[in-house]
Amino acid sequence: MLDYLVVGSGFAGLSLAYRLRDAGFTVQVLEAGSDVGGTWYWNRYPGAYCDIESLEYQLGLPTLLQQEWRWQGKFASQREIEAYLQFVADRLELRPMIQFSQFVEKAQWDESTRTWQIATRQGLAVAARHVVFATGCLSKAQYPRIAGLDTFRGQLLHTGAWPREGVDFTGKRVAVIGTGSSGVQVIPEIARQAQRLYVFQRTANYVLPVRNELLSDDELARRRAAFVQERKAAFRSPAGVAADAPLDRTDPALTPEKLEAELERRWNAGNAFSFLGALPDVFVNLESNRIIADFFRKKIRQIVQNPVLFEKIVPRDYPIGAKRLCLGMHYYDALQKPNVEVVDISQSGIQQISASSIQTAEAAYEVDAIVFATGFDAITGALAQIEIKANGQTLRDAWAQGAHAYLGVLVSGFPNVFLVTGPNSPSVFGNVVVAIEQHVEWIVRLACTLRDQGKIRLEVARDVEEQWRTQVNAIAKDSIFKMTETQSWYMGDNVPGKPREFLPYLGGFGAFQEICDASAERGYPGIERK
Ligand code: NAP
Repeated sequence: MLDYLVVGSGFAGLSLAYRLRDAGFTVQVLEAGSDVGGTWYWNRYPGAYCDIESLEYQLGLPTLLQQEWRWQGKFASQREIEAYLQFVADRLELRPMIQFSQFVEKAQWDESTRTWQIATRQGLAVAARHVVFATGCLSKAQYPRIAGLDTFRGQLLHTGAWPREGVDFTGKRVAVIGTGSSGVQVIPEIARQAQRLYVFQRTANYVLPVRNELLSDDELARRRAAFVQERKAAFRSPAGVAADAPLDRTDPALTPEKLEAELERRWNAGNAFSFLGALPDVFVNLESNRIIADFFRKKIRQIVQNPVLFEKIVPRDYPIGAKRLCLGMHYYDALQKPNVEVVDISQSGIQQISASSIQTAEAAYEVDAIVFATGFDAITGALAQIEIKANGQTLRDAWAQGAHAYLGVLVSGFPNVFLVTGPNSPSVFGNVVVAIEQHVEWIVRLACTLRDQGKIRLEVARDVEEQWRTQVNAIAKDSIFKMTETQSWYMGDNVPGKPREFLPYLGGFGAFQEICDASAERGYPGIERK
């Protein structure tokens, strides 16, 4: 029987496969896609790239990876990240451990044998002592429920499940629904090809322009030499990335002019974390938040000349950062092209879809293709679609009133299950690769401790898990996420019926690392082992 069955072969699954095998465990990976990559396998829409710098968005262990892989640009495209993950799988000889095109549908705990029985849609059955779900936070595509959608006769696409063979929009009339991080990336690319592009915008978003640039050999050599130190710093940082420190609001020398100049500098640098983090209390103080948002609006006004278009697309409805800040290359330029029209659906939404059109309260838009850039059932969606069952209860049911996991990894009632970047952990509230590594290291260390103690079953105590959840909620309580009614995948309420709750841990990557380290050093209190 296997020691560990890992579900998923993105950053987390590959990292786990390597680290668990290295620690002497038997490991098998099941992957739904036909190759490695996870999120970066499925999100292959044109214009997809990462909003975190490539040199920070890579695995830390083993160190040979950073020395051997050459990133081309400051920001990496989906293609480059996918190629990187293929390189990781090949270089670390992980492929023999992975079975592709296997969608895990069920995982059933057998208390009598203390094993998990795993079944895939394709008919594979595997028994393992432990299961690790490395299924990703933004991997279950979310399609809106719109009347008549099933009658549409043109092409239907979702940015999160883009066809491998690509799509040619030449000469077509295309609708993009959604203007979040995925929408603002795909829109300029489709605008380049399509005869006509309708952008259906429900909420105007803050889109920070970024300029990509090639990495010189000198810069690469310098960063490679510094990587280990930089990664250590990332573990201790607020968001798992290197960013400029916040300004000191109490400093009398920080005049409004100096603040403006500093915001301008951070805007030009195109680093979301430096820009948003210019004022330390941007997530908890609406006045500080407004200063940054006002600056943002002023910048958009400078880019968008047409006052009617500006009024349509300027974000006013929510504090900056309450939805994840989008990074875009040429987004505002694309909206000003003659073949592009922004359709404001903030008031009455989309009424209906017919065989060939999208209808709003004001007009019908004839289209050949609809692209849903409508996001994900985030953090819990990929897990809830699997029937994970232990002692008569499914994980889906356990989370019916809100998701919870001790440190984002362990769920009471589900022995020998590990999540990676689950609810109540920093996860996607920053650099997810660093969050993944925090979890992978903690899981592998705990796995080794269990083995060294001669135990085969572990489960977190319910009260310990509950205390952690209370702590996570207490931190979020006074934040802009709770102060306003802003809907987002952070809060889970972008999915109808999903309980509204701030899912990530907001205390920062550094604080989270200290908590994880303290748990390990104190012998994992609250985690019962038999
Ligand atoms: P998202 O941020 O959840 O955005 C979804 C968009 O679809 C929003 O504009 C939303 O409008 C709209 N929408 C949803 N349902 C709708 C409906 N029924 N009618 C009309 N509009 C609807 O999803 P995403 O853009 O895929 O991004 C999700 C996350 O993935 C990001 O926040 C980011 O963390 C990650 N991501 C990162 C990158 C990157 O690294 N550059 C790229 C893509 C994604 P409302 O705002 O009104 O709800």
